[in-house]
Amino acid sequence: MKCYACRKEIEEGRERCSACGFPVIYIVDEKDAENIRKMADDYRQSKLEGVSIELTAYQYAIENDELVLSEERSMPLFKGSQLNFDMPVWFEQDFAQIDTDEPLTLNITVAAEGKKTTHALSVKAPKIDGFWHIGAVLDDGFTVRMALGNGQKMEMSESFSLI
Ligand SMILES: [Zn+2]
Repeated sequence: MKCYACRKEIEEGRERCSACGFPVIYIVDEKDAENIRKMADDYRQSKLEGVSIELTAYQYAIENDELVLSEERSMPLFKGSQLNFDMPVWFEQDFAQIDTDEPLTLNITVAAEGKKTTHALSVKAPKIDGFWHIGAVLDDGFTVRMALGNGQKMEMSESFSLI
């Protein structure tokens, strides 16, 4: 069966999910099944509440007709509680396209309980018109994949752990 809270497959005989600790729950009356869903949703939200996802973004300036790196900054993208399964959430900022067939590297930092973990994620350059946007989608076992593109067409990164 899958964990109610994070959807990770729970092995037979285990009492708790190995990813998030949510228990395997039995109830004495089938009428109360909705209650399990609610408990799982609350558990997931409380786990995600203190987590945030940041992107290292780069800004260039023109100096003497040349482009020079003027700023590298950590841009807060999403709070964990904004994330959903299956449907990416999108950050409003426009990003310039990079015209390449080589994989790009997204430098993503997960901040949780005062601790920061950085992941260098590989993602293909989406072939779309206009600005790129960056999104994130929740996956099984409290992992996340980043999306690059727009609501119609996107490329996904590999997944990384949130907790
Ligand atoms: Zn779980």
